[in-house]
Amino acid sequence: MAQRDMKREILMLPVILISTFMILPLPTPAAAQGKPQDRPYLDIVGKLTGLGLQDEGAYEILRKLVSVGPRLTASPGAAAGVELMRQVMQDLGFDDVHLEPITVNRWVRGDTEKARIICSPLVGSVPLTICALGGSVGTPELGVTAPVVEVGSFGELKALGEKVRDRIVFFNRPMDRKLVQTFGAYGGAADQRVHGASEAAKLGASAILVRSLTLRIDDFPHTGLLEYDPAAPKIPAAAVSTAGAEFLSALLRKEPDVRVHLELNCQNLAPVPSANVVGEIRGSKRPDEIILVGGHLDSWDLAVGAHDDGAGCANSVEALKLIKAAGLKPRRTIRAVMFMDEEFGGTGGRFYAMDERRKGEKHLAAIELDSGGFLPIAVGGGKPEVFEKLKKWEYLFKPLGIAMMRPGGGGVDVAPLAAQGTVLLGISPDSQRYFDVHHSGHDILESVHPRELELNAITLAIYAYILAQEGI
Ligand SMILES: [Zn+2]
Repeated sequence: MAQRDMKREILMLPVILISTFMILPLPTPAAAQGKPQDRPYLDIVGKLTGLGLQDEGAYEILRKLVSVGPRLTASPGAAAGVELMRQVMQDLGFDDVHLEPITVNRWVRGDTEKARIICSPLVGSVPLTICALGGSVGTPELGVTAPVVEVGSFGELKALGEKVRDRIVFFNRPMDRKLVQTFGAYGGAADQRVHGASEAAKLGASAILVRSLTLRIDDFPHTGLLEYDPAAPKIPAAAVSTAGAEFLSALLRKEPDVRVHLELNCQNLAPVPSANVVGEIRGSKRPDEIILVGGHLDSWDLAVGAHDDGAGCANSVEALKLIKAAGLKPRRTIRAVMFMDEEFGGTGGRFYAMDERRKGEKHLAAIELDSGGFLPIAVGGGKPEVFEKLKKWEYLFKPLGIAMMRPGGGGVDVAPLAAQGTVLLGISPDSQRYFDVHHSGHDILESVHPRELELNAITLAIYAYILAQEGI
């Protein structure tokens, strides 16, 4: 899949996932009913749950992972994360622990990112808290100083036309607070961050500021990937904190000619080698049939990426650890994959699906965890036709307090496997707090609760083990 398409998919996936969950009928209670003798594996559920909650091992793995610092793709932190997770899986005695080399693009934030309202008769000179968007070019050395034009949509931008020439375009459409599923609210606002720079550049704008994608009003900017259209000039792009966005917007209403000075010295550098990290429990009967569990090892650089996606990596390893600790011998292989470079375009996922090692392997199912380490509230059973077959296992998740199985699943890194017939499944944690931390300085270890995190690992262990035993 072309990188451009993949980037688009990054944005679409959560929306597809959530909207699919919302529109399809939920299982009736009767679907999960049955006599005790018709409900195998409940003893194993109890054992995995007890082992997990007793030790909270996922948190310990996560603590080790975030100790290397932020893991921005192609950074020294990412390289350290690769080596650390390889070592962790080796120490746990997983089978065939290895790295799968890939090449990734390198972008560096630099040491200058400043924005300031200047010479306002009303407020004087006021700094704005910003961060460069991932992939952005820097400003000229002396920065960009220009009047600001606020817009809420690409339609508004186009209607302004030439009026935005040599201006800084300020995209200020908030995430929709009325939506229960915050991934839907994110998906409804992320176009500004991803495509805003090129859409503004086509009309001659000199830079953009984008309201941070979070429902929280605070002074922490949230970064994320932008996508430059090759047909437009590349202009600098930064996210402004929601508090800064509200302040600037209020000022613009009183003082439409207000000017902002912006300085960024981020840059794109030559690609570097990196790797996906792989380890497994080899299947006892059908080793070439794989149940993949995974997360992405890279993070953004404003914090250590504890939720995004340290949690997915830690939970994948912890799930295999729990299965081994319970003395279970899965019939099919259960494989943990820590993908590199999800945030900058999904390179790791694409390379994994194409790797020579995949020949002779059949990936039956893939479960990617990339929605944070919050309390799991639902299990995704894939496309509706797959869900019909898997919903009989709903009773296994009820003891964990998980209310339901429902159709849905997938993720940027496992999406390329779907072309090979792999069923994409999922686990959905509660999403209310995810965008408080997502891609920001809030995404730290202390924002993760050890028991909530562990419940994801236990759910994953149960799901992977059942699939390894029963197939689909
Ligand atoms: Zn992520």
